This record gives sequence, C-alpha cells and structure tokens, in this order.
Amino acid sequence: MSADMFASTPGQLDEHERLRMYVEGVLERADRAVPWGPETVGVPASAGGSALMRLNDVAFYANARQEVSAFAALCLNLLALHRPRDAGGVSSGPACALRRCNCCMLRWPCPTVQEMTGLLK
Ligand SMILES: [Zn+2]
Repeated sequence: MSADMFASTPGQLDEHERLRMYVEGVLERADRAVPWGPETVGVPASAGGSALMRLNDVAFYANARQEVSAFAALCLNLLALHRPRDAGGVSSGPACALRRCNCCMLRWPCPTVQEMTGLLK
C-alpha cells in the first residue's frame, strides 16, 4: 500500500475521511435496524448443518445488530485517535513527507489505519 493513496487533494476526501464515513454508515444502519428475533423475519433456511450449527446461526443473528454497532463505534474511536498529526511549523506544506499519526507517532498512514483501510475494498 502506498502512502500516496492517503494524500488528499482539494475537493477529494482522503482515505481516513472515506473510512470514517464508511464506518459511520455501518454504525447508523446497525443502530436503525430493528433488533432481530425469531418472530421478526424468521430464521434463514439452514444450509443443512447440525442443530449445533443452527444454534450458532440463531445466536449470530440475535447479537449481530448490537455487535456490529459496538465494532463500528470501536472503529470510529480508533479513527479519532489515529489521524494525521497537524504538522504545523516548518514541517508543514505540500511537500511534507514526514506526516505522522497523532496517536502512535508512526509515519502516516500508520499501520493501524492502513489495516483498517481494508474495509474500503
Ligand atoms: Zn496511528
């Protein structure tokens, strides 16, 4: 992954902003969704698994809304922490090659954000 993909040009969202907007969409959909229950939309047809696998499916659907919401909130918190540090001073400018993460201080984009960017693919 190239650091260039994180560069923003005027009028375009950078990868960090696109990622934040994507996760916010996931969170909003999860929070607006009706909590699942067997009486709401039923249980999807089984793929021929055992009763134990069926129980796993039901547990997954029953918890998915709350768990997706919690994971999305976690991602937003990570993105709020891991963001480009305001360079300021002598190191700012369009040719600034030493942007760093505001949280871990590693070169931007830091490994945490690079890993999370996989959500956009
Ligand atoms: Zn970081």
